[in-house]
Amino acid sequence: MHKKLFIPGPVDVREDVLQKMATPMIGHRTKDASKLQRNISDKMRKLFYTENEILLSTSSGSGLMEGAIRSCTRKRAAVFSVGAFGNRWFDMAKGNNVPADKFESEWGHPTTPEMVDQALATGKYDLVTVTHNETSTGLMNPVEEIAEVMKKYPEVIWCVDAVSSAAGAKIEVDKLGIDICITSTQKALGLPPGMAICTFSTKAREAAKQVENRGFYFDLLNLYDYIQKKDYQYPSTPSLAHMFALDYQLDLIFEEGLENRFARHKEMADYTRGWARRHFELFPVEQYASNTLTNIKNTREINVSDLNKQLGERGYSISNGYGKLKEKTFRIAHMAETTLDEVKELLVIIEEILGL
Ligand SMILES: *Cc1c(COP(=O)(O)O)cnc(C)c1O
Repeated sequence: MHKKLFIPGPVDVREDVLQKMATPMIGHRTKDASKLQRNISDKMRKLFYTENEILLSTSSGSGLMEGAIRSCTRKRAAVFSVGAFGNRWFDMAKGNNVPADKFESEWGHPTTPEMVDQALATGKYDLVTVTHNETSTGLMNPVEEIAEVMKKYPEVIWCVDAVSSAAGAKIEVDKLGIDICITSTQKALGLPPGMAICTFSTKAREAAKQVENRGFYFDLLNLYDYIQKKDYQYPSTPSLAHMFALDYQLDLIFEEGLENRFARHKEMADYTRGWARRHFELFPVEQYASNTLTNIKNTREINVSDLNKQLGERGYSISNGYGKLKEKTFRIAHMAETTLDEVKELLVIIEEILGL
């Protein structure tokens, strides 16, 4: 039996979108391949409210995170972490010999503009990473406020991890001044895992030119140069299956309307938070609770694995707490094509199982 997924990726994919993955192959050095990638780029620009170039990567989102910090850090990176995925970015820096310092907030608390200002005022850093939506804690960072601080430091490259929020929450890349905004297919975009996408500013490109060892597969400058020279073709063989599905899914997203889509996510989040407050507590500071997933403090000390097993028998799946939060919290994702009615249906079943 297929379990309905309320986990923060992979998400359930519409049947017609899944079918697009089965499109007969085309050569990746053909005009059709160029057209496909160009169409995707145009649509992704719209989704990210940007004029910047779009880079695709046949990898999950982590690939582009690693590529960004390695390709564009000239001096030293300031990694702002609010959980497991922020910490991962710091580990990527270390693993690539990229000088970096980590500024970690207490889990459930945001990266504040003051923290960013204080770090950048030292003049030590020329690249900053911020997690837009931290999936381990269920927190959405105040990127609009952080953007105000970033404007004071125009020489610093700003990278944002929007893996679990892009297409579920509004991120106005150009207005915010984000240089590299990263996402992947299997979360709010509503596709199978296997492809990552980022925006790439002129400033980021100029920075990358000054970095000698950018790696190869995730060298963002190489990805950029290649699509300029080769009319939107990918340097190696991309997952064309994902590209067919992504191109199609983006049309469906615009059919729904971006504002409607963001509002639907917000509505599901509000409902789930209300439920969480009635029966448990929210894990993150409420003001920063995520619109794509809700992380709930296990104040009743229920057995989360057991709850999930019983949900599984009824055809549903939620997520336990991440890493050190296992059994201490549980997470309900409400992203991609999930509807408010489906969320309500899940919460009623959880109430039945727990006897709430
Ligand atoms: C899932 C996730 C990642 C990792 O993305 P992959 O596509 O699995 O590599 C990074 N950051 C956040 C916030 C995520 O939710």
